[in-house]
Amino acid sequence: MLGCTGHTPPWRIRGNELIIRGPQNDGRCTDERYLRVSDPHPPEIGNAYREMLDLFPPLPVLPRLEFVRSLRGKAGLFTERLIVVGVMDALEIAEQIWRRHRDWVMRRVAYLHGGQRFDPEMSRRFLFVFVAGRIIAHEFGHALRRYLDVWTPYPFDEEASADFWAGVIDRLRRKDHELGQEVFFAIGCDGPGCRHPTPDGRAHAYLAGRAHASRFIEQTA
Ligand SMILES: [Zn+2]
Repeated sequence: MLGCTGHTPPWRIRGNELIIRGPQNDGRCTDERYLRVSDPHPPEIGNAYREMLDLFPPLPVLPRLEFVRSLRGKAGLFTERLIVVGVMDALEIAEQIWRRHRDWVMRRVAYLHGGQRFDPEMSRRFLFVFVAGRIIAHEFGHALRRYLDVWTPYPFDEEASADFWAGVIDRLRRKDHELGQEVFFAIGCDGPGCRHPTPDGRAHAYLAGRAHASRFIEQTA
């Protein structure tokens, strides 16, 4: 992280705390402390990361995956050797989608399970796991850019590049494009001070990544 050199990696674990050193608005370096969740529930969330790693050549540096109770609105974070998911933040994004599109989510989840009808609580749980998986895919996209220097159509926009690579990963793992697009739309940024692209920009970059992976799959088929 810029302005906070001398700590590599810029984070450490102490018991149930994850401590990340980073610059504040005034440029000073301070420690941010987050409460770790050692066994995220449900466990599928952790398996997703292993499946993503299997898609690519071994990374020279393997980022550790950590879950924290809350990342205070950020949902996900990538820094040197570390990917973090905020469980409550992911839940909040899932709930936001659920409140807006509950019936659509239920139909989509049923469709993805061969037409088998899920009850609302099961659908909601599926959505939460799905959102957490997309956050990991985005952060892993940052790691692929950093450690494997993968190509991107957005050379000057690391956030769009990470969304693009999340799309590649999801296409390779056959994750649903409609729900995936909805998640990236939901985490788009509106208003001043945005570091991430807009809802449309994020969904677009994600779909571009999926299309890129589809072409690759066709060529190698
Ligand atoms: Zn990012």
